[in-house]
Amino acid sequence: MTTQSNPPTRQDFDQYMVPVFAPASFILVKGDGAKLWAQDGKDYIDFAGGIAVNALGHAHPVAVKALIEQGQKLWHIGNGYTNEPVLKLAKQLVDHTFADKVFFANSGAEANEAALKLARKIGLAKGKSNIVAFDNSFHGRTLFTVAAGGQPKYSKDFAPLPGGIIHVPFNDLAAAKAVIDEQTCAVIVEPIQGEGGVLPADAEFLQGLRQLCDDTGALLIFDEVQTGVGRTGALYAYMNTGVVPDILTTAKALGGGFPIGAMLTTDEFASQFAVGDHGTTYGGNPLASAVAGAVFEFINTPEVLSGVKTRSQRIIDRLHAINQTYPIFETVRGQGLLLGAVLKPAYAGKAKDIVTLASEEGVLVLVAGLNVVRFAPSLIISDDEIDEGLNRLARAIARFVANQPNANQAN
Ligand code: PLP
Repeated sequence: MTTQSNPPTRQDFDQYMVPVFAPASFILVKGDGAKLWAQDGKDYIDFAGGIAVNALGHAHPVAVKALIEQGQKLWHIGNGYTNEPVLKLAKQLVDHTFADKVFFANSGAEANEAALKLARKIGLAKGKSNIVAFDNSFHGRTLFTVAAGGQPKYSKDFAPLPGGIIHVPFNDLAAAKAVIDEQTCAVIVEPIQGEGGVLPADAEFLQGLRQLCDDTGALLIFDEVQTGVGRTGALYAYMNTGVVPDILTTAKALGGGFPIGAMLTTDEFASQFAVGDHGTTYGGNPLASAVAGAVFEFINTPEVLSGVKTRSQRIIDRLHAINQTYPIFETVRGQGLLLGAVLKPAYAGKAKDIVTLASEEGVLVLVAGLNVVRFAPSLIISDDEIDEGLNRLARAIARFVANQPNANQAN
């Protein structure tokens, strides 16, 4: 039993929580910028960013101010009434993207759920219902989004799944061309597969998908839940590709840590949803929208966006330097501050071991699949925090290499 004098422990997780996660052995209690502290006072440099969420780091004054000011005014009223923060946020998103209309939700999965439902409704009116998605993609954990995702491990236990979803290999335009036809209502794609291994889509692949959608009347959905809101150094990754989607989904960094998601689309497609077709209790509530509005305004400046690229290069250069000493990575890929260091085949399956050693050394990193160490830090992480975090990572990698049974031959 937890009492006030005894703070919760990691054992409480196993006792009280449904075991769908396996969190680290320590409990974080405080954050400031890209630094975090655990219950025992140990500090960590945060390259995980709450899985690409904490775009302004922890406890950023701009986000805190928006939260407190709105918290003292109006938290929630339900969608029978609109509110000022959501209207401001919708206008911000429309003013700075291809979109004319926004639907707000609470998460990335819900934003994608809205996108897929809209595409189905539009398609069905023309007798087309197939959705084309890609192997290894990730779109969330609702039944529709695990079915759209290209990782069977997330959907295999939940049959029957929503049907009419066809998966083909990512970055394989010929394979996509073979299945996108008059029956296709939508193609859903991540501009960079995040969970699937920080794997960027080729520009020609995305351009080809755009053309195939135009030729067949299918909608092109970009899932920018992980790549959006400055993560790649552009406001949205599509802006780097020369391809404009019909629907875009965004979440994660949008609220800087406060849960919010959104589906963006054009007037033409938005008008196919009528009152009552879709909905949510919390989506676009004043509290979430006020925080997201402040975070969005802060990030959407040339300084912050170009800063993402500078920071990215600093991390990449330093990772290459570490790799000179301990050559465990085959490549570093990704864009902006969504980077993946891909392990050489000799270390296949061991990304998680590096994450654990890194946290022991005081730096938080993520995996993306079994073989990729992923970095998704604050977009405004300082140079000192980057350097300190990578020093700690280098120590973790030194220990990792020393632990390998055949360390000398593995390169
Ligand atoms: N889409 C992509 C590309 C993601 O990376 C994620 C989460 O990792 C999601 C959708 C699901 O977002 P959420 O966990 O907020 O539902």
